[in-house]
Amino acid sequence: TQSELKYKRLLLKLSGEALAGDGAYGIDPEVVGRLAKEISEAAAAGCQISVVVGGGNIFRGLQGAARGMERATADYMGMLATVMNALALSGALSQLKTSSRVLSAIPMTTVCESYVRPKALHHLRKGRVVIFAAGTGNPFFTTDTAATLRAIEMGCDAVVKATQVDGIYSADPKTTPDAVRYDALSYSEVLARDLKVMDGAAIALARDNRLPVVVFSIAEPGNLLKLLKGEARATVIQP
Ligand code: UDP
Repeated sequence: TQSELKYKRLLLKLSGEALAGDGAYGIDPEVVGRLAKEISEAAAAGCQISVVVGGGNIFRGLQGAARGMERATADYMGMLATVMNALALSGALSQLKTSSRVLSAIPMTTVCESYVRPKALHHLRKGRVVIFAAGTGNPFFTTDTAATLRAIEMGCDAVVKATQVDGIYSADPKTTPDAVRYDALSYSEVLARDLKVMDGAAIALARDNRLPVVVFSIAEPGNLLKLLKGEARATVIQP
């Protein structure tokens, strides 16, 4: 039941790559189905769960800009990429009979709902999974910042970043075998050591609003539910 959950309302940040599987590009329906199952288990346990998906598996503004596009235009393309990912995730959730809504920061009225804060809160209270698409709606931002912003707006207990490893390390544990893993960190430690968790703007926003940032692995099936119950390994950044 909900009273047993450590996190009763949370925002899950999924990077675009998380949807691509081995391909690293595009959307792998099997992988999306697996992520949808994690989310659906969390919702069934009574957690009010919302999701921000990235778009890096399809398009990144910085990559477009590096190849000569105007940065703002490239960023809008990146935001549109997140809408595709959000639709894929919402579709996979319906296949599992889990009700969800996509709310886009860029109005796209024939495709999905537009982001309106009270509407998002209403869906959450009704037990629907809310998927925030199109990032913050502004160029020069990232979906990490969008995730932190929406988590604060929704009054979430934490913003949870899903990765392939069980927390934050001093260096990439896949390439640096003696990298140190942290159980807990402060925002200033993350910023000062330039630890690659979320971009600086997202960490600063979390710090200023005292929002805990949790980093855990979504690679093991069932780990999101374990995290909700306080049983998963994770790094917590908190005041
Ligand atoms: N983006 C943006 N504003 C936002 C969120 C995202 O302009 O508020 C653009 C930006 O170009 C970014 C792309 O959308 O590169 C995809 O998002 P992101 O790189 O954060 O996705 P992830 O790395 O999580 O897959």
